[in-house]
This record gives sequence, C-alpha cells and structure tokens, in this order.
Amino acid sequence: MTEHALEWDSPMYRLAVAQLDQTAALMRLDENIWDRLRMPQRSLIVSFPFRRDDYNTVDSVQGYRVQHVLTMGPTKGGVRYDLDVHLGEVTALAMWMTWKCALIGLPFGGAKGGVRIDPAQHTRSELQRITRRYTMEIIEMIGPDRDIPAPDMGTDEQVMAWMMDTYSGQKGFAVPGVVTGKPIEIGGSLGRKEATGRGVVTCVGEACRHLGIALEGARVAVQGYGNVGSNAARIAAAKGARVVAVSDVKGGIHDARGLDLTKVDAWVREHHFLEGFPGADSVSNGELLELDCDVLVPAALQNQLTDKNAGNVRARLVVEGANGPTSLEADAILRDRGVFVVPDVLANAGGVTVSYFEWVQDAQQLFWTEEEVNERLHKIQSNAFRATLDFARDKKVDMRTASLWRGIERVAEAKRRRGVFP
Ligand code: NAD
Repeated sequence: MTEHALEWDSPMYRLAVAQLDQTAALMRLDENIWDRLRMPQRSLIVSFPFRRDDYNTVDSVQGYRVQHVLTMGPTKGGVRYDLDVHLGEVTALAMWMTWKCALIGLPFGGAKGGVRIDPAQHTRSELQRITRRYTMEIIEMIGPDRDIPAPDMGTDEQVMAWMMDTYSGQKGFAVPGVVTGKPIEIGGSLGRKEATGRGVVTCVGEACRHLGIALEGARVAVQGYGNVGSNAARIAAAKGARVVAVSDVKGGIHDARGLDLTKVDAWVREHHFLEGFPGADSVSNGELLELDCDVLVPAALQNQLTDKNAGNVRARLVVEGANGPTSLEADAILRDRGVFVVPDVLANAGGVTVSYFEWVQDAQQLFWTEEEVNERLHKIQSNAFRATLDFARDKKVDMRTASLWRGIERVAEAKRRRGVFP
C-alpha cells in the first residue's frame, strides 16, 4: 500500500470497486485479472478556458475522459455535464460501462467523460463553446475505432452534434461514428433517444412477469424526468402502467390515481420544471422513493437508495434507470426485505445497445427503420434479462451479482486470451 490515495478514489469509485470485489470473490476470479480490473487503463484530466457571452469574461473549467478496459474493442460511454463531475465519478461510471457492454455482448470496453459545469447556468452558445473546446482537449482519445462518446446527464443530441462537427472539422471529412446519440440528420439512429427508457420498461415488464405483478395498472414512481425517466414513464404508461409520481432536480409530483403525462409534458415544455404542476401533490425527491407503489424507477442520479431509506421503500420492484443509485448497504437491506432489484448494468443497457446500432449503421451507411431498432432492442434486452435471471437462480445470487458476474467473466476471459504484453 502506498501512502498516496489512488487518483480516482471517491465514494462512487469505492462502490464500483466494492461491487467488483464482492463478485470477483464469489466467482473466484483470477487475482491478476481482478487487480487489473480495479483500475482504469487510461484517465485524462483537462482544464480549459471558454468565453462567456459578454466576450471579455473567460472562465476555466475541468473536463475528464476515462477508458476503463481497452481489451474488448473501442471504448464507449457517455459525457456528463454536472457540477459534481470528478475523476472518481467518471471512473466508476466507466467501470460500470465495461460490465454493461460485456453483459449485453457488445464489442466495447467501458469509458465515460464529463465537464464540471452546471449546464443550466450556461446559454446555448456558451455550451457550444465548452463542448467544442472539450472535444478538442480529448480529441486524441476519441474516434470511431477508439472511443465513442454519447449523451449522459446534462448532455443531449445537440451536444453530440457539436462534438461530431468539431471532430469532423479536424479530420476534414464527416465522421458520424465518433459519437452516438446524434440527431438523425447527421447519422443518428431512430429510436436512440427513447432507447434507455424503452429498455428500462422491457425490464419492468420481464420482472413483473417473474414476480406475478400485472404491468397493466401497476403503480410506477419515477425519480428523474430527464431523458431516461421521462421516456420510461411515457412508455410504461403506454403499456397500461399507472405512473403515480415523477420528479426533477427541484422535486416531484404525485397523484395516486395516475398522472396524465401529456399534461405533464405540456407543463414542462412551458415551465421547464415540474414544480407547480396543477392537480397533483408535490413530493420531495426523498419522499418519492418511499411512496406506496409497485415499481420504483430511480432515473436521476447515483446514491439515492442508502442505508437511511432502503428500509422504507414500499415498492416490490426497483428498476435502476440511473447508474449507481443504490449503495452497497441499501442493496443488502432491499435483498433482505425481498425487494427485487434490476441493477443499472442490466436495466439501463438499452441506451448503449441502440448506440451500438447507431455506430453499426454509421459504419455501413445503411439505416434501419424505427420498428427494426425497437424490435432488436427488445429482443436483446429481454434475452439479457432472462439469461441473467436463469444465471441468478442457478448460482443462487441476486440480479446485481448475476449481472456483474456475467459481465466480469466475459472481460476476464478476453483478457486471459489476449495475455499480458510483453
Ligand atoms: P438528464 O439530464 O436527461 O435527466 C436527469 C434528470 O434528473 C432530470 O430530470 C434532472 O432534473 C434530474 N436531477 C438532476 N439532479 C438531480 C438531483 N440532485 N435530485 C433529483 N433529480 C435530479 O439525464 P439522463 O440522460 O436521463 O440520465 C439520468 C441517469 O441515467 C444518469 O444516472 C445516467 O448516467 C443514466 N443513464 C443515462 C443513459 C442515457 O442514454 N441518457 C443511459 C444509461 C444510463
């Protein structure tokens, strides 16, 4: 042990490593490979300036890109704009991406990136300058055969368009495959925007079937009404579920009879936040997690279910739309209480699955219909769920352990085959 902490050490990194350690011990993973997997292969920290809209003010910000495992093919992972972004968070997210891609069988290792800003505090033109400069700073690390960014918290298809344009400008020709989650007009895939939410709902459906809960009429509470949460809520409602609560950064709204999401969407378009939505009770983000419901979908951010509140969760089923929403202690409490948890690496894999479809379509310049995309996603997501459930039963472990086990095993096997250089 050195006296210096690992550069990427943080609570979230420790959670990712603790999950790896627990699983690796159970599966009796080769210790050399186990040790290797605890650290990211490449981490880049940059700081860079950008001009505020008044032109004379120049602010400096920090950005990150981490590639966890380069064994499986190019690396893949989102870009997050948030004030809490730091190397430890990005590293944990990159590690989860590795297991997720391996679990689903996608030819990628895990990566993640981010810039430490509050996107709500910047104008569109400032966000464009930040994005372009960030892309330039990490340009040596990314590329369609190297590392392919995608949207995550605080970023969207417009941010991906600016990244693609900046990268292409440097190459001298259009390179659509450098990012996924792009607008359709520049090589995006139909169905990508909704894909993570759609995959979450596939898992809700499969888990409900397993638990004997009817999806039709099931009461669903969703924390986070961004890309993942709002699409999951809409698709679940379209399948007959009753969405009783949703929330955003300012708080949530609750109606036990079910929210009218068309009205909610119209309200958000006009007012940007859920706050003040008429005809529903307001709830805090913390209260939402403890509401009387059948299915809880945390789809905002990490570390939401902890030893403080896991004992109060009333849902029978938790499907993790967000990455890392459940602490190790909360996991144990939920397991003991018989709450069925579909873990992030399985539940929110729909996003990277359709990102993979987008990357394939860009490489072939042959684009699929939305039905094709959705059908293939459904097949992959439900097969992954069922295979993981069978594995969990066989090994007598929970769904998180089973998901991590299957993912880690594939990466370990690839590492063993490729060997150690030199
Ligand atoms: P987003 O930025 O579109 O939405 C985030 C939502 O969370 C917003 O409603 C925001 O108001 C809310 N929020 C932000 N801070 C909050 C706080 N402190 N408390 C409560 N709510 C808060 O982001 P997204 O892309 O939907 O990502 C949400 C989660 O899903 C993240 O954990 C992300 O890593 C994960 N994820 C996203 C994708 C994807 O395709 N976008 C794929 C896999 C996993």
